[in-house]
Parts: sequence; structure tokens; C-alpha cells
Amino acid sequence: MTKFIVVAGGVISGVGKGVATASIGRILKEYGFSVTAVKIDPYINCDAGTLRPTEHGEVWVTNDGGEIDQDLGNYERFLEQAIPKKNNITTGQIYRTLIEKERKGDFLGETVQFIPHVTDEIKNRVKEASSGFDIALVELGGTVGDYENIPFLFAMKSLEKEIGKENVAYILVTYLPIPSHIEEMKTKPTQLSVKLLQENGILPDFILCRGKKALDEVRKKKIETYANIDSEHVISMPDVTGEGTPNTLYIIPLLLEKEKLGEKILNTLNLERKKEPDFTAWKKAVDNIISPEKEIDIAIVGKYLDIGDYKLVDSYISINEALKHASAKNNVRINISWIDSKELERTDEKILEKFRGIIIPGGFGSIGIEGKIKAIKFCRENNIPFLGLCFGLQLAVVEFARNVCNLENANSTEINPATRFPVIDILPEQKSVSEKGATMRLGAYKAILKDDTLTKQLYNSNEIYERHRHRYEVNPEFHKILQENGLIFSGTSENERLVEFIELPEHKFFIATQAHPEFNSSLLKPSPLFDGFVKACIGS
Ligand code: GLN
Repeated sequence: MTKFIVVAGGVISGVGKGVATASIGRILKEYGFSVTAVKIDPYINCDAGTLRPTEHGEVWVTNDGGEIDQDLGNYERFLEQAIPKKNNITTGQIYRTLIEKERKGDFLGETVQFIPHVTDEIKNRVKEASSGFDIALVELGGTVGDYENIPFLFAMKSLEKEIGKENVAYILVTYLPIPSHIEEMKTKPTQLSVKLLQENGILPDFILCRGKKALDEVRKKKIETYANIDSEHVISMPDVTGEGTPNTLYIIPLLLEKEKLGEKILNTLNLERKKEPDFTAWKKAVDNIISPEKEIDIAIVGKYLDIGDYKLVDSYISINEALKHASAKNNVRINISWIDSKELERTDEKILEKFRGIIIPGGFGSIGIEGKIKAIKFCRENNIPFLGLCFGLQLAVVEFARNVCNLENANSTEINPATRFPVIDILPEQKSVSEKGATMRLGAYKAILKDDTLTKQLYNSNEIYERHRHRYEVNPEFHKILQENGLIFSGTSENERLVEFIELPEHKFFIATQAHPEFNSSLLKPSPLFDGFVKACIGS
């Protein structure tokens, strides 16, 4: 039978509940268990596909085409296994299913109610996503005390009743602020979160205390007494990133293991370890990130960067992480400068001279695109390593069409529907799409790689799968002219209609892909394209 670990957050969101969940999963996997993780998002959207990246961070794409909250990315990176879209449950999905069933008459006259219908639907989905695994982590988005969290907490409590307390452990991840005017770590918000959780009939088995600093004994004792739990179950989780601290989240499973969290959780769930954990390779990779031998500067030219007065690089978190994986493998620190493509439109491209390589990430719409095209031209003409991802490939084709093939003002029809040279055009199956949600070309698709290309050399395989999320493609009408002018289609769909990878010969590294290889990268298995890009940057 599957054992469940429910992870809820207290005090504020954004304190790393997702990474904590993923880290616990990694630890338990090391003890020999099959582990999965489920993310509950209490919003009414059916998935994250329609959410603004600057508000909610990147949209994660699963192999089976789900557009999901970025936490699923953390689960995949830490667990090193693919997680399907059914592992993300939202309020929108629950109500949509119930309303569809009700309209079909499936309830046979019953009154459809919040309890038990909504809560049963939640419970069933959690069970379905977890079936076949030894342990399932269920992370509840938001913060305890949010109105919208109530049905999910209720459903978890009801699951506990059904399968027995020994099969469910609750973890509360809280935050202990240190207000600058008193410089003292305060436990009160944590106490209040415990109280709020108890209002739902749930007592935490563990409290993970996030904070700028480690928890001291006095505060640990206070929390322990207040929550009535064993002091061994109050775990300190100080910041691991920021000034003067190691710049990686991958250290967290190692830190939690130091606190023997894995063993303590197994005890709580009445489980015996199935094997001795071995973190050797993981630790080596983390050490490489913390104290690398080399250092390089690269730039990412994007548009989803600012929200109010703050920069939100979470919009590109998977790219950041894929670079980190490559940095661990190549023993190099990668300093990333985030360049706003809107600003680059107004600036001299010479500002790019100081970077060893440039990445153009995915994107939508016309804002800032001329800035991105400027950066691509600069890379192409100056032999600077370039990696284009999805929109990055499309804009590299636009740049090549304009400046090498002399197709004046060539463009993507996404940006200029009236262009004379629509080198990027909407996919035929996208023309009739009217609903925006979950209708792009989504998920893993096969690409056949061409002999004697750098792309094939890097992947070391004839055919590969990468994940996609787009509506536009390289227009087949322009394939010939682009190739005649020297652009190599280093990977295509099986029927060669879709261009999946391009590269330029006689360039240090100029590769772009219609896919998002950043969704297929982990600490111990970096994406081949990111690895190749970083190697080229080191060598340049
Ligand atoms: N906007 C482009 C398209 O829809 C690229 C999408 C992306 O970069 N993910 O095809």
C-alpha cells in the first residue's frame, strides 16, 4: 500500500516548500523506495498554461503534454524521473469534472455537494496519481489558512481516516522571520500556522523551519512545546542561497539527511529502509557547484523579467537549473546576466561582448523580439556560442532569413501576420484553435538527428525525444532557401516537415531547437545541449 506524506506551508508562500518536498522525495528514493510527488494548486485555472510567467513563474511541460506549475519541475529534477500531468491537481480540474458529470446526469438525482463530492474527487485523484508507488508526497500549494486550501486539507484528513494514521505523515513548512528592527527570530507566525492546521484536525508530524538563519535551541524548544511534537521532529532549514552561502538548492537533500530526516520519516511511517542511501555522485556534483575550478559569464536575453520593481528570473527557472547541471558536470561557475530584450532594442549590442555565450529562451508575442534578433546576429557574426530555445530557434531562423538569405523584413506571422516572407508560420493543426488552454503542440515528440552534425554528436543518438510547447514552426515553404544558404536542419520530425533543431557549420556553437531541452535535465544527467553549450563557452 502507498504511504503518503502531506506537505503544507505556513506563514508565507515562496519559502521553498516545493524544493523541500522534492528533496524529501530524493532522500526516500535513496533509501530504496519508489517515490512520486503530487502538487495541488488551489487556483481555479485547470492548469498553469494560461498563467502569466511573471506572476507564477515558468510553465513546466510534462512528457505527456501537461502545462504545469514549476514545482513539478523540481520533483523531476530531484527525483530524476518523469512525472505525468495527472500529478498536478487544481481546483479548476475538480469542479470541471464534477460539473461535467452532473450535466451528464451521472449523479442520478443526488445533490452534488462540497462534502463529500469535491473532497472525494480530490482524494481519488491523489490516490490515482500515487498508485503503484511505495511513497507519495502530496504538496499543497499556498499557505494553511487560505480559504481555498480547506477542501484539500479535508480530503487528506479523510484519506488518513480511510487508510490509517500510520500510513500518512504531515509536514508543515513554515517561515521564521527576523524583523530588521529587532534582529530576533520570531516563532509566533509558526505557532499560528500550527493552530490553523489543527483547525483542520491535522497535527504536524514534522515542522521544517525555514529562515534566514538556523533555528537555535530556545526557539526550537518553543515550537516543540507549542506544537506538542518531539524536538527531533522540528527541523531547521536555513537559507542555502544568497550572499556568502553556497549557490545551490541541490545541497538541501544533503542537509536534511544530516538531520536524519529520512530515517525519522521512515520511522513515522513504520517503514524499514530497503537499501543504504548513496549520495556520493550527488555530493560530488554539489561540491562542483559550490567550489568550481573555473568561472564564465553568459547572458540570457528574455522578456519575462520584471514584475513591479522586482526581477523575476523564476520565469526561466528550468533554464537556470539546466545551466546549473551543466556547471556541475563541467566544474565551472556560470554567472548569468539577465538582459531585458526590450532594453537591448535601444542599446548598442557591444554590451554583449563581455559574455562567453548567449541563450535566447522561449517566449510569446512581439515585445522585445528585435532585441533578441540583434543578440542572435551578434552571436552568428562574432562566433559567440549561441543556444536558442523554441522562440529562440524561430528568431534565429528569422535573423538568418533576413541577413543571410536577404529576405527583407522576414518574420514570424506571430509577430507580423502580413510579412512578405513568413519564415515562421502557424502549425496547420493550430489554425482552427480558438481556446487558448492546453491547445499548443505540447509534450515529448520524437526528432530524427542528422549525421555529421554537432547536435547528433551531443545527443549521441539517432533519435531523441524532447518536450515542446508552441504553436508556430519553420514554414516548410522556406526550408529550401534556408538550407541552400547554409542553415543545417540537424534534427527534424520523422516526415521532415517540422524542423526540430538547427545549427550553423563553421561556428563554435550555434544551435537552436524548437523544443525545450531544459525540461529534460537533472543534476546527474545534464541536458546534452546545455552541456555542449557550456563546454563551448568555456573554450571560447
Ligand atoms: N511563440 C512561439 C510559438 O508559439 C514560441 C513558443 C515558445 O517559445 N515556447 O510557437
